[in-house]
Amino acid sequence: MKKKPFILSVLLLVTLLPSMASAQANFIDTAHAYSNPIGRYLFFYQEADTRLNPLQVLEKFDHGELTRVTNEVVNFGVGVKPVWIAFEVNNTSTSAAKRYLTIEAPWLDKIETYLMADQKVVQQFKLGDAYPFKARPIDERFLTVSYDFPSGKTTVLTRVESPDPLIIPLYFTSDLEHYQRSIKNSYFYGLLYGALLSLLAYNFFLYLSLKLKHYLFYSAHIAAFLMSNMAYTGHAYQLIWPESLVWQQWSNPVLMVAFGSSGILFAAQFLNSKQRLARIHQAAIAIAIVSVFYVLLLLAIVTEHRVMADLTALAFIFCYAWILIVMGIASLRRGNGAARYLIIATVTAAITATVSVLAVWNKIAFTDFRFRLVEIGVVSDAVLLSLALAYSFRVNQTEKTVAETLARVDPLTSLNNRRAFDEYANVIWANATRKQLALSVIMLDIDHFKLVNDRYGHAAGDQVLIKLAQLLKAENRAGDITARWGGEEFIVLLPYTTEPDAIAIAERLHRDVSALPINILGTTIHINCSFGVATKTQQTTSTDELISQADEYLYYAKQTGRNRVCSSQDNDQGHSSVPSGTVD
Ligand code: GH3
Ligand code: MG
Ligand code: MG
Repeated sequence: MKKKPFILSVLLLVTLLPSMASAQANFIDTAHAYSNPIGRYLFFYQEADTRLNPLQVLEKFDHGELTRVTNEVVNFGVGVKPVWIAFEVNNTSTSAAKRYLTIEAPWLDKIETYLMADQKVVQQFKLGDAYPFKARPIDERFLTVSYDFPSGKTTVLTRVESPDPLIIPLYFTSDLEHYQRSIKNSYFYGLLYGALLSLLAYNFFLYLSLKLKHYLFYSAHIAAFLMSNMAYTGHAYQLIWPESLVWQQWSNPVLMVAFGSSGILFAAQFLNSKQRLARIHQAAIAIAIVSVFYVLLLLAIVTEHRVMADLTALAFIFCYAWILIVMGIASLRRGNGAARYLIIATVTAAITATVSVLAVWNKIAFTDFRFRLVEIGVVSDAVLLSLALAYSFRVNQTEKTVAETLARVDPLTSLNNRRAFDEYANVIWANATRKQLALSVIMLDIDHFKLVNDRYGHAAGDQVLIKLAQLLKAENRAGDITARWGGEEFIVLLPYTTEPDAIAIAERLHRDVSALPINILGTTIHINCSFGVATKTQQTTSTDELISQADEYLYYAKQTGRNRVCSSQDNDQGHSSVPSGTVD
């Protein structure tokens, strides 16, 4: 029971706190510093169809007909009627106070600011991106004016007209605060653009050296975001196209669409969707290049309908994110691991972009952080996708290495295949010819191998081939090249080996093969092979010739009873043989 007074006082505090916080002065005092937007000191009036003049608005203001703003940043949404903002500034000191009035929404078209004292306009400014950049009183990307507020009261009236999101993040700052804010902004965008430019350059150089198109599309995608961001933050108007009034009005939606399109084209390349996801690919490419969005955007530009252009661009970006996610999931389900990165990156970027768009759209409160979240999202997206590109590059390299190895190895016996053998043989041949070194070759073929298959089955035949290959490998001297030449035919290339030595080696192999016990289905069998040995002479012109000589001696061995070694030394009686040991 003792707790009750405590709970009551907490409840009282909780209910009182917000009202205490909102109980603010009605005017701006030059003696105070205002580091946040001054929305809560503002009053607004939305024009109906007739245009008001500042004196009319001042009269309404004095009669309390203006509505009090309750947020730091007042936001009216997209495509709304012009809005008047009014607030009072009180300078209690005896000297004038210089203050900056900055609206940090560089896309606003027309801003007229009137400074009123004694029911008169004492100073007025015109700003906005519908006017040439040169006409600005202060060379800044934000819409800024400065004014020396004299002692006493001054009323500030500002008329804002723009079909774009009509947001008024209005700052009232001293020289020092204004300078500090602009330094902070410069660092932030320096970092953002630095990160994006280095990723752009990195991917573009990768494209130049690797000639893989997805790197090109990716750098184009980053470039599109960079340009789009520079457009809506006012950097581009200040630094790149200060003279291009018309482009300044359309650059935002056009660059947003370019950003989305390049993203889809990149994803298609990256996921190789043309091959792997043919139907989704066609739909995605159609949207990226020739969709209804393009028609709408073009229509908007032709009819000068800015709200339609903005909405089209936003809808396109929304679809773009979903297209990427669908493509990513489809690709992941078909076993493309790299798609995972694309999905995570896109979801991150989509969530952060949604928060920013909702803030600009007046669906959630506008704050500096929410406005910039999209930029943080895009940087993380870019970093993730660079990782994804590195990952897929590594996977490709591994696949390539595996494929190259597979292309040179016989899958059954793991011996070199013919192709690998030829490559080695060419090098060894050239060396032997140049240095006049001995070089021999042995060809061998299993006798009556068909019988093994017929009696014990093909799988047993395979076992025999594997066993024989193991024996050949075990007897391989360093530098010898052993390969599977055909079905049950093998070849051994013997560098630095004269004919007598090669024959001796073949004889040893002959004995060892015949003695090799092979276990098949519980019984032990033996096989025999026939051998042909050939050695390079002055007359031999190529490896092919050397091999075909060995093949001829092998044929001769087969002709003359099998299970023997034949070479140039042989006459009809045959050079050697072991007691016949056909398949038992
Ligand atoms: P010869 O003594 O005249 O060489 O008689 P052979 O039966 O060994 O020769 P032939 O060329 O008539 O038959 C070769 C057999 O080898 C036929 C083929 O099915 C078999 N063969 C070829 N490659 C493989 C393989 O990879 N695995 C198995 N199990 N059999 C194979
Ligand atoms: Mg055979
Ligand atoms: Mg054969």
